[in-house]
Amino acid sequence: MNRIAVLYDAGQAVLSTFDLDEVLQRILGIAHDYFHLRNVAIVLLDKQSQELYVRSQIGWDEGQDKHRLSVGQGITGAAALKKLPVYAPDVSQDARYFCSAKSTRSELAVPLMVNGEVVGVLDCQSDRVDHFDSETIDLLTLFSTQASIALQNARLYSLEQQRARQLQAINAIAQQTTAVLDLEDLLSRVCQLIQDAFHVPHVSLFLREDHDLVLRAHHGTLTPNIPEGGRFAATAEPWASILADNCTAMDKDLCKAPTRTKFFAETASRMCIPLVSFGQTLGVLALDSAKVDAFRDGDQQSLESVADICATAIQNAHYVDRVKQLAYLDGLTGIFNRRFFELRIMEEIERARRYGTGMAVIMADIDEFKRLNDEFGHVLGDEVLRQVSSLFHQQLRKVDVVCRYGGEEFGILLTQVKTQQAMAVAEKLRKMVEGWQFPGVPRTVTISAGAATFPQHGTTRDGLVRAADNALYAAKQAGRNKVCLAAAVRRQAATS
Ligand code: GH3
Ligand code: MG
Ligand code: MG
Repeated sequence: MNRIAVLYDAGQAVLSTFDLDEVLQRILGIAHDYFHLRNVAIVLLDKQSQELYVRSQIGWDEGQDKHRLSVGQGITGAAALKKLPVYAPDVSQDARYFCSAKSTRSELAVPLMVNGEVVGVLDCQSDRVDHFDSETIDLLTLFSTQASIALQNARLYSLEQQRARQLQAINAIAQQTTAVLDLEDLLSRVCQLIQDAFHVPHVSLFLREDHDLVLRAHHGTLTPNIPEGGRFAATAEPWASILADNCTAMDKDLCKAPTRTKFFAETASRMCIPLVSFGQTLGVLALDSAKVDAFRDGDQQSLESVADICATAIQNAHYVDRVKQLAYLDGLTGIFNRRFFELRIMEEIERARRYGTGMAVIMADIDEFKRLNDEFGHVLGDEVLRQVSSLFHQQLRKVDVVCRYGGEEFGILLTQVKTQQAMAVAEKLRKMVEGWQFPGVPRTVTISAGAATFPQHGTTRDGLVRAADNALYAAKQAGRNKVCLAAAVRRQAATS
């Protein structure tokens, strides 16, 4: 047998293509032909389960290549354990033998090593007892290094390819996100893009709000343990250390850390990357996998680049939100202005119309405010306006909207309420102001209010505002410090 020819052919096979299966098949073909083997296989080691599985084989009996052997099991397992070739000259006499072809009489297993670690085994079987002499064993051991090189090449190549794919993905994410200025839209799009590009089972974005981190968007296949909008104290783990160090946190095996909060039922490993823009941590990008130790170092670097881009895009969207908000805020009181009122009332009417939930408009006006200005001066008048705004704001639900409609008049939108509740709210506000001690004002300040509900008193923006305004006028006529309902105005108008 020409040793040089065997090794040369094996070397050529390794260099011929980057497709691992093709290289392995060629190597096996050479081993099979040159060494007259009945069957030959390359089994690989699954690092996580420490099991050997058949990656490529020639001549095995049908279905036998589905079996998995633990390290230490069978002749191949023994070679993987010892990191040395193991030879069974007569398999019928060897208790370790695991049958993969009925005709096999002798078996040689040679470990495949990369950087001193076993990655698999070259398994050679013959239908002759004691087929392998020591020279053949030496030659096959040398030959096995070609298979190892093929494996390493293929691994490097696939890493390179993955890196190239990730670079493309980073580019795509950058292109597709920098132009999105609506925050909600941006967050959900980012989650989807990352999930698609990196094949991570679940991607979530937590953003900082006050002292909390809030789950703002997520996308993937795992089962959430928390609802969208779910809050966590920023001082709790895993957030505290991530936010303190501004460094990526990797949990390789969450099953070993039962105290750690799992965002998803199936999570086994997780990577959390802080979203930092101009030194400010805006939140955390969390990647969850149902597999233990699912993330590679290369993934981390690429995902950190993605997190950088996302942080900038989120910052931009925040900024646009802020500018938009400024256009809708009243400079003196800090509550919404009339422009916002006009916008929201349309949305609220539409919602009430669609879901049949009802909504109300309250127009409230400070009584004899001109006199208050005259008595105590404009500066104090301004302060009273601010305090009334703040009282209204505190008394209402988060879903309701308080706007400075103009001068000392306020427009309030109540969502999902019926007439009775709307009147109760207006009355609560009136009482609140009446009972409030305004600093520097040694007398009672009062308001009058008119309420109108959809659809009883109007079904359009103008109709509802007019109805509420008329009711407010009626309250003024009735002596001020009063609340009137729009329907009462109509009845009054009908009887007078
Ligand atoms: P009524 O009970 O009928 O509502 O009497 P009123 O005096 O409150 O109503 P009127 O419309 O006659 O006067 C409104 C006053 O509110 C006149 C105006 O100077 C004052 N005002 C409007 N905007 C501001 C403001 O921003 N700051 C201050 N200090 N006063 C304001
Ligand atoms: Mg007034
Ligand atoms: Mg007024």
